[in-house]
Amino acid sequence: MQDCPYNSYSSNLIRRYGHKVFRVGVDAGFSCPNRLRDSEGRGCIYCDSYGAKAAYLRSSESGFRHDSGFVDDIDSMSCKSDECVKNAFEFDFQDIRNQVQRGMAFIKRRYKTDRFALYLQSFSNTFAPVDRLRELYDFCVSLHDWEGFIVSTRPDCVDDAKLDLLASYRPACGSVCVELGLQSGCDDILRAMNRGHDVGCFVRAAQAVRDHGLELCVHVLTGFPGEGRKELDMTIDVINRVKPDALKIHNLNVAAGTRLYDMFLEGEIAAPCMTRHIQDTIHILRHIPYGIVIERLMCETPNHRLAAPRLFPDKNRFLREIEKVMTSKGFRQGDLCSGQ
Ligand code: SF4
Repeated sequence: MQDCPYNSYSSNLIRRYGHKVFRVGVDAGFSCPNRLRDSEGRGCIYCDSYGAKAAYLRSSESGFRHDSGFVDDIDSMSCKSDECVKNAFEFDFQDIRNQVQRGMAFIKRRYKTDRFALYLQSFSNTFAPVDRLRELYDFCVSLHDWEGFIVSTRPDCVDDAKLDLLASYRPACGSVCVELGLQSGCDDILRAMNRGHDVGCFVRAAQAVRDHGLELCVHVLTGFPGEGRKELDMTIDVINRVKPDALKIHNLNVAAGTRLYDMFLEGEIAAPCMTRHIQDTIHILRHIPYGIVIERLMCETPNHRLAAPRLFPDKNRFLREIEKVMTSKGFRQGDLCSGQ
């Protein structure tokens, strides 16, 4: 089998654990400070209230197939997460238990495995007072003998007390990873995204995660209007400054129901095609150390909610394209990175 030119998530799992570990995604009912402080409750202009949850948790979408046409009537699909914008800090423990059981059953059926990591995935999973977080995390951690605990959140939503709490689960879960959204290393682009934090805030949060002995995964988004090579290099600089354990790269997706979608309809923005995302992705990969694990290389918004880019391939085809281009040109992750 041909050697992958980048440090892929699956091969890293095998190296690390000797087997694959599958994430059980949980929507604990968190909200997001950026949505709450926004008068329209929509937060980042690309925020897709359906997207940040595992496919098996989106039961309202089960009737849609990969080749379904586009549906912009999102009101026809009820979404629990939208209610959560109003109900911050209230956790439904029975619902969480059901989600975990459903997630594990789905993964067991599909992949014939019982090696799981707990993934608090939807919205900002540290957005509650620390005593409420302890109650929630204790409950979730007690539900299985997890091989890893991953918590996704925003840079302006972590502090020492919350990171101390997360670090306390390392003995039980083996590792605890905090996923932080950077999205862009350019403050002008962060403002245009309505991210509600700047690069400095992200760098401080990333350092605090590191100082607490937690693993760090950084999310970035490429192809935002106004992003050229200079701005992409600013993002790469920030990645190399904070030295994450892992990276998730997303291409700009225009999903129904987002503010970006309104702009798209007005003709104000366009979403880059696969060729541009391949170029941007390879540029990032070549300029970051090989040690950073690549957990994701594209968005996976389901086709029936994806307004643009419509002709983007599915994940497997995209990964094959990246590998093909890198291999044919002799490129590898980190081959242009000075700080290996
Ligand atoms: S930080 Fe995440 S959940 Fe919050 S508004 Fe932005 S995209 Fe949405």
